[in-house]
Amino acid sequence: MFKIDIKEFHWMLDMIQHLDVGLIVLDKNYNVSVWNSFMENHSGYSPADVIGNNLFDVFSDIPEDWFRRKAESVFLLNNRAFTTWEQRPYLFKFKNYRPITGSAEYMYQDITLIPLNSADGSVNHVGVIIYDVTDIAVNKSGLKVANDELEVLSRTDMLTKLNNRGYWEERLSHEFSLHKRNKQPVSLVMFDIDHFKRVNDTYGHQAGDEVIRLTADLLRFCKRETDIAGRYGGEEFTVILLDSTAETSMIFAERLRKKIQDTLVEFDDQTIRYTISLGIAELNNNDLSYEDWIKQADSALYKAKEGGRNQSVIYSSVTGESEK
Ligand code: GH3
Ligand code: MG
Ligand code: MG
Repeated sequence: MFKIDIKEFHWMLDMIQHLDVGLIVLDKNYNVSVWNSFMENHSGYSPADVIGNNLFDVFSDIPEDWFRRKAESVFLLNNRAFTTWEQRPYLFKFKNYRPITGSAEYMYQDITLIPLNSADGSVNHVGVIIYDVTDIAVNKSGLKVANDELEVLSRTDMLTKLNNRGYWEERLSHEFSLHKRNKQPVSLVMFDIDHFKRVNDTYGHQAGDEVIRLTADLLRFCKRETDIAGRYGGEEFTVILLDSTAETSMIFAERLRKKIQDTLVEFDDQTIRYTISLGIAELNNNDLSYEDWIKQADSALYKAKEGGRNQSVIYSSVTGESEK
C-alpha cells in the first residue's frame, strides 16, 4: 500500500513536471517551492536556481504590488483568482519562440492562482498556473487590426479618402445633438465644383477624378484638424466647422475658394483651372432637424450658383434668404 502511494506521488510529480503549462508553488513569503520544467525551459532558471528564493528577487520585473494584491486575496479568502492576457499580457517576460505566432515578441499568458490547503484547512501556499495563450492573443489582435481597418474602409470615400456621406452624416447628427446641450457655435459649409461637366467633357473623366482628388487635398489643407469633412456626392463636399460662427466660416470658405481659384491642375500635359461655389449655414435654431440644417447650407450654395458661381454665401435664418 505504502509503495503504491509513493509510486502515485512520483507519477503526479512527473506529470506536473511535463505539463505544457507553467506551475509554481509559492509560500506566504513568496518563496518558491515548486518550479516545473515549463518554467525552467522558458525562463532559463532551473529549480535549483529558484526554489527557496523569493520570487520578486529572482524576477525583478514582475509587478510586485499588483501580484501581491492578487495573491493576498487567495491566501485570505481561500478563493481562486484569474487574470487574462487582455488585462495584462504576461506575468513572466518569456520570449516567444513559436514559429507560427512568431509575430509576438513575448509569450502572452493567462494566469490562475489557486489556494493550496494545509491539513488544518489554512492556506499557506498558492499554486500559480501559467497558460501560454500566444496563439489566441495573436489571432485576436490580428482580427482586431483587420476589423479596425475594415471599419475605416467602410466610412471612407475611396477617391478622396474623406469621410463618405453615410459616416459624415452620422458625425453631423452627433454634432447637432451636442450643440443642443453645449450651445457652442457650429457651422456647416457645403460646396460644389463649378461647371464640372465641362471639366469631364473637355479633359476626360480621369482628369475630372484628379480635380475631385485635388479638391479634397485642398480642403484638408485649409480646414482645422477638428473640422469634419466629407464627400457628399460626385463633386459636392461638406465640412462641419466646430466652434465657428457663420462669419468665421466665411473666412474659411473664402480662403478655400481663393486657393482653388489660384490652383493649376496638371493632367496629361494639360492645365486645368476651376472654381467652386460655397454655402454656409450656422446652426442657431434647435427646432430644426439636422436634415434641415443641410437644406439651409444647400440653399445658400444654390444662391452662390445663381449669383454667378465662384463665391461664398451665408444662409440667413431671419429671412430664409441667403446673403453674400
Ligand atoms: P454647376 O456649376 O451647376 O455645379 O455645374 P456642373 O457641371 O458641376 O453640374 P452638375 O452638378 O450637374 O454636374 C456634376 C457632374 O459631375 C456630373 C457627373 O458626371 C460628374 N461626376 C460625378 N461624380 C464624378 C466622379 O466621381 N468623377 C468624375 N470624373 N465625374 C463625376
Ligand atoms: Mg457642380
Ligand atoms: Mg453637383
